[in-house]
Amino acid sequence: MSERIVIGAQENLLETLVSRMITQGRDFSATAVIFPGKRPAHFLRKELAVRAGGSIIPPHIYSVDDFILFLYQQRFPEPVRDLTPIDAAALLHMVHGELKERLGGEYFTSFDAFIPVGLKLFGELEELRMANLPENKMKEVLSSLTYNRLFSLAEYYTKLYALAAEKGFTTRAVRYREVADHIMELDLSGYTQIVVAGLFKLTHAEQIIFNDLEKRSNTLFIYQSDKSGDGTPEPEIHFYKASDTHGQVFALSGLIKKQLENHQPLDERSVIVLPDAEALFPVVHHTLTLLDPEKYNIALEYPMSRTPIYGFLNNLMEFVSTKQGNRYTAVSYINFILHPYTKNIRFGNRTDVTRILFHEIESALTKDKSKILLTLEEIEEWDELFTNVAFAVSDAGNPVSPEQLKNHLHAIHASTIGALEHCGSIREFAHQVIDVLTTIYEQSTARLHPLFRPYSEALLNVFLGLEQSFAGSASFQDASGYLNFLQQYISLQNVPFAGTPLRGLQVLGLLETRNLHFDDVYLLNVNENVLPGSPGSDMLLPQQLREQWGLETRHDHDQLREYYFHLIVRNAKRVHLFYSESGDSDKSRFVEQLLWERQKRDGTYSSDSYVQTVRYRVNLANETVTPIVKSDEVMALLRGFTYSASVLDMYLQCPIKFYYRFIMRIEEKEEASADLDSRDIGIFVHTVLKRFFDPCVGRKMELHDLQPGRMRRLIDELFSQKFGSEPAGESYLLKRQIQRQLESFLNDYQIPAVQESELMIRGLEENIRIHAFGAKFEGRLDRIEQRGSKIVILDYKTGYSKNKKIIVVDKLDVNNRSSWSEAVTSVQLPMYLLLYSIQTKTDVEHIMPAYLYLGKNRIGRDCEAEFVEDPGERAAAFEQFKQLIDLLLQEVNNAAVPFAPPADLGTTCPQCPYTGLCGTAWIKGWTAS
Ligand code: SF4
Repeated sequence: MSERIVIGAQENLLETLVSRMITQGRDFSATAVIFPGKRPAHFLRKELAVRAGGSIIPPHIYSVDDFILFLYQQRFPEPVRDLTPIDAAALLHMVHGELKERLGGEYFTSFDAFIPVGLKLFGELEELRMANLPENKMKEVLSSLTYNRLFSLAEYYTKLYALAAEKGFTTRAVRYREVADHIMELDLSGYTQIVVAGLFKLTHAEQIIFNDLEKRSNTLFIYQSDKSGDGTPEPEIHFYKASDTHGQVFALSGLIKKQLENHQPLDERSVIVLPDAEALFPVVHHTLTLLDPEKYNIALEYPMSRTPIYGFLNNLMEFVSTKQGNRYTAVSYINFILHPYTKNIRFGNRTDVTRILFHEIESALTKDKSKILLTLEEIEEWDELFTNVAFAVSDAGNPVSPEQLKNHLHAIHASTIGALEHCGSIREFAHQVIDVLTTIYEQSTARLHPLFRPYSEALLNVFLGLEQSFAGSASFQDASGYLNFLQQYISLQNVPFAGTPLRGLQVLGLLETRNLHFDDVYLLNVNENVLPGSPGSDMLLPQQLREQWGLETRHDHDQLREYYFHLIVRNAKRVHLFYSESGDSDKSRFVEQLLWERQKRDGTYSSDSYVQTVRYRVNLANETVTPIVKSDEVMALLRGFTYSASVLDMYLQCPIKFYYRFIMRIEEKEEASADLDSRDIGIFVHTVLKRFFDPCVGRKMELHDLQPGRMRRLIDELFSQKFGSEPAGESYLLKRQIQRQLESFLNDYQIPAVQESELMIRGLEENIRIHAFGAKFEGRLDRIEQRGSKIVILDYKTGYSKNKKIIVVDKLDVNNRSSWSEAVTSVQLPMYLLLYSIQTKTDVEHIMPAYLYLGKNRIGRDCEAEFVEDPGERAAAFEQFKQLIDLLLQEVNNAAVPFAPPADLGTTCPQCPYTGLCGTAWIKGWTAS
């Protein structure tokens, strides 16, 4: 007689199973146990051994998939040739090519475009196959689906499985169907007992198979409800709300730390459950580092697309696919060479040389914007660069020649870029990738990086499989096809962390917890978008049809997740549930339900008292940046210092920033970009205006000096010198914009100005150096202009900041230090006044410094913004400014006053490049949240 028992959620499935097993001493080999997955096998064997008090002959333990395979091979004993998803996609592509009515019409003609749809199609066809429906019925219904040409699904279905059989492949669904169709003929008499444990939600084929087993006399079915039995103790549940995953991990680490300090056990009876693999890295870096590596075990599937080895390959292929003629984009080259696996390729035994070489190349390419596209030969012929790097990396004992560096770079190019440039098929691509990965493994320090081995093994296995696969003969038109293939197929693979299950604290995905029992559960990301979340991808078949045919629906997906959630929670003694609440993240409906149950039980109106809020960011927000004390060396440097407007502006903004930039000389890193940034544009426009107005210096400006045609030609000439002669895309648009803006400057500002009054340019880009207040000052004045008796000092601004006041005079109280940075945005214009008045001994009332905003939408005479228009007020404001400079210099030169952070970190730090040094990177997230 078969038997069926249902146990409550709080019961231990394995213990129940063991207690019901028929044994002959220590020999369990006559029993077959079938679980939904593979993991419980380890725990069952351990449980049996513990109960037997020593070694045992274990039962045959199968996952459902393995059990079906075992039965299938009773009918077809030869080795199974499994149809992998990519092979299926290749077969479906063949079918696709033959059909008149294709999914997506002509859109998916090439194989790389078809891959995503092919993979999805295969998944749905497998489900249909599993549904064990009569073929005629299925074809009839599929043929009636007109939406999205789904009626052709019947043809894809029939032809795919016919082709697969013809080529000797089977699929999971084919095996299930075959076993379901012949289950009555299959022999299980070799087992005196068959135990099927922990199944939930069966497919149609599974139902047929297990229904038949139920009719047999020696089978025991153990099901587990996700409801607790009446009167059974509820687990102790704690809820933690954080603003993001890092907050959750912060709270988790706090709990683990406390448990360790209290010497409470953290063994295989404790589990950290990660339903979203995104949390794995923070947990590895912040929580698991509290433990000895021998004291935990990770078992979950991690997305390949998030691994550094995939990132390396993706960067490399992105670079290769930018090739036009024999040129590639500089930005993608920089991305490739700066990947940690590339820049850490050894030069002999040294690991520093390649890094220095690649950072030098990056720096040179970033500065030289004309190199938007380049050839590998150009880089390999960059003699000056090799000479500089050779000098930098050589010492007496280790001379390095430019020639050696050149050869080294050439070898790297050949073994990476060269290897993947001309692949004729997926097989060849796979072969070449394996070679590249081997090179990286052997020649770079990558293998020393954490988790390199599981990541690279998983990736290698995927490519080794491709070498042997049916799809291997498929090819793509060019490198971008192989890049698509990488991004559409390889990125979808998972890295299986199989782990050593019986060792220490378990870190598992949600599915990996199936059928297992834990005392302490730490469940992260219990958010609605994760639990239940949504099915992996949109379903092709309509939900109604899925329901009708017993295929998985969205509702089934939710139910399955709910079942596993309640099981892991109700099966434990202590549960800690973590979730994020901010922006679009909301707590899961499962958490809502648990909170609601508590409210009902306690008769409360609010759930707030059950939830602990993780305040890690608040604590960080209270942290301050430590002021930097001025050493004797720093004081000596300050004594000889030359001040400029930008130096003083930076000091006013943040004295620590001034210290890093001008005393430590740590420069802000320029980002590599294919686009021209505002700094490049600013420099370019200054150069154009200098060249354009040079002929007018020292004489009256005339209308014929201001011809737009000359301006246009000058921009053409300088643009091609600086950024290349064939600007494309954004560079082209930018050039057009500069031309338009400067022509408008001539027509709407400069020509009217000349018509209005006589003017003469006295100087362009003039450097001025003076001594004042016991210190040296310097500045470069864009344009000095004489308008009647007035001297106008113009500073070109290519951006436009509307209401930005330079000094809010009435806010400035020189005796109140905290008012300085609030009232003064920039000392630039008064500084020009100071420089020019002292240098030329001109009365300040006759000098008017002003910004000239060239970036305004509508350029006109009003794009000048003066530093205090009225001469009398200007003189008064200038007096205040001089006092400010005096006090500022006294502060800078006072050894007792350290370099201090700004009063409001939240306003100043997020834009600062030194957040890493000050430890204020958190502010960005904090102020944004
Ligand atoms: S990060 Fe903040 S405190 Fe540090 S230098 Fe920048 S502005 Fe100053």
